Amino acid sequence: NRRWVLRKRPEADITSEHLELVTQPVPELSPDQVLIRNIYLSLDPTHRLWMSDREQYLPPVQVGDVMRGGTLGVVEESRSERFRPGDIVKPMVGGWEAYTVADAKMVRPVATHPDLPLSAYMSVLGSTGITAYFGLLDIGKPQPGETVVVSAAAGAVGSIVGQIAKLKGCRVIGIAGGTEKCRWLADELGFDGAIDYRNEDVPAMLDRLCPDGVDIQFENVGGDIMDAIYNRLNLNGRLSLCGMISRYNDEGVMPGPRDFGRVLMKRLTVKGFIVLDYQKRFPEALEALTEWVSRDQLQWKNHVVDGLDNALDGLSLLFSGKNEGKLMVKVSDE
Ligand code: NDP
Repeated sequence: NRRWVLRKRPEADITSEHLELVTQPVPELSPDQVLIRNIYLSLDPTHRLWMSDREQYLPPVQVGDVMRGGTLGVVEESRSERFRPGDIVKPMVGGWEAYTVADAKMVRPVATHPDLPLSAYMSVLGSTGITAYFGLLDIGKPQPGETVVVSAAAGAVGSIVGQIAKLKGCRVIGIAGGTEKCRWLADELGFDGAIDYRNEDVPAMLDRLCPDGVDIQFENVGGDIMDAIYNRLNLNGRLSLCGMISRYNDEGVMPGPRDFGRVLMKRLTVKGFIVLDYQKRFPEALEALTEWVSRDQLQWKNHVVDGLDNALDGLSLLFSGKNEGKLMVKVSDE
């Protein structure tokens, strides 16, 4: 088995000294276990957090252990009655590895549709879509006519958030890096406006595009971008805190908005969430997302890196903004 092992905790950007690709034998299956050949490995900003030992929502990956990551694969061998060879599955705890041995009770079947590529179940019909769904609808509670601002809006989660907000009748402004990403949001996804934070003055553009303020902030980035949106939140505004990617490569605290008094003055609701919190309600999200996809009401982009060997280089694309859509590794053929 080829697997990436955590060798050293990063203090800033991830480099080749932090993860090493090793070859290890695949263990024999015990009763009630399955052997999964991984087809896709999801690369996520949160992998940077898992590599650190800062306080977080799951135990950090231990030095010497295989790197944790979400996978989709096919059952090759089964010693469980629940799975047969050929079944498409996702283990609850996957890894950066070619094969995964898992207890059957820790494996979920994936109900695939013949018209959709398997990669869709790693993005719009996987954790990405589910994150967007609950983060916007459960926390943001969008009402028709409200103004929603999304950061990292051209990314995997952000692009779905904006489209769902449009389906709910909101005005949607996205913030993203570069003219091409902004063009995609405004021209193809139907956003009402897009701000290129690399080339434009974000506060000034927010004033121009959100003259009546912001009702819902869907935050993926943190830092100055978060502050600029927050400073324009209206009375009873909601801040759905999904991520703070701009701070993940720093080991220090992740600072919040400077003017905390605004929470009081404007009666804001500020709530962080982790998609895993919603595990029991995943079917509800998947049903809605599948419906929108089948009606061509949701578009998504996948950025597929070829080969497990390239996983480490692939991960850095998330932090330079060079990924175009949901980033994943093609580990083996479908
Ligand atoms: P994306 O596809 O959005 O990729 C990350 C994007 O973040 C990059 O493409 C880049 O876009 C932007 N970015 C990176 N660094 C910076 C920076 N310093 N300043 C501004 N923008 C930056 O990834 P995901 O959709 O997977 O994740 C988006 C966010 O959602 C992350 O914060 C992630 O942690 C969070 N998340 C949270 C979950 C939860 O359960 N709470 C679940 C899944 C994701 P650009 O070119 O526009 O700069």
